[in-house]
Amino acid sequence: MKKYYSIAIDGPSGAGKSTIARRCASAFDFLYVDTGAIYRAVGLASLRAGVDRKSASEVSGILPGLAIDLRYNDSGEQRMFLNGEDISDAIRLPEVSICASDVSALPVVRSYLLEMQRQIARTHHVIMDGRDIGTVVLPNADLKIFLTASAEARAQRRLKELREKGIDTDFQSVLQDILYRDEQDSTRETAPLRRAEDAVLVDTTELNFEESFSAVSQLILERFFTVDTVEKETI
Ligand code: C5P
Repeated sequence: MKKYYSIAIDGPSGAGKSTIARRCASAFDFLYVDTGAIYRAVGLASLRAGVDRKSASEVSGILPGLAIDLRYNDSGEQRMFLNGEDISDAIRLPEVSICASDVSALPVVRSYLLEMQRQIARTHHVIMDGRDIGTVVLPNADLKIFLTASAEARAQRRLKELREKGIDTDFQSVLQDILYRDEQDSTRETAPLRRAEDAVLVDTTELNFEESFSAVSQLILERFFTVDTVEKETI
């Protein structure tokens, strides 16, 4: 059976996981999987259905009616579909971030989405980013990275990103949103956000994008592309 390689990148909201993971996937020819987008799809569906997002029974009631599909367009960009509708832009709205964090705390939602994520890694070389990839989804990942930065630095970056997309918001609301999600994501009982014991910590507070990209690329190069590694893997 062919061995597929996997890289798990976990960390809090706004640490730069998706931008860095996307760029590394393209540089090293891995498939980039943004698992937050999958949770956002369930968050959006629960918002539209008007269910109580903290109630396991209400949210589990809508799950059977959801066809969540992750597709890649010709330029390799991940697009999310919900019952045939392209929701890739809708899931980026700040209110959907909160909904995603709420529903993702429910064990029923996490187990519903687990197999979908593992199946992709069984059939592709992946760089998967999320909160529990190294701890739960791919505990045997070939490389695990925990990417983080101070809450203020993350809020600044997220604000810039949202404004570039034309979403009108301010620093304080973005910071509040980040703190709310940090707290909820790391204190939930099922698959809380935490660094796997064997994950390499990369703190990007003082790094710009190019420096962060270079730090992560270096880890990938060392793990997969040094002569030493190649020799080890062919033994
Ligand atoms: O990564 P992103 O900010 O898009 O994720 C949205 C929310 O989905 C997070 O705040 C988190 O609560 C949840 N999530 C998760 N597990 C993942 C990915 C995202 O719980 N693997």
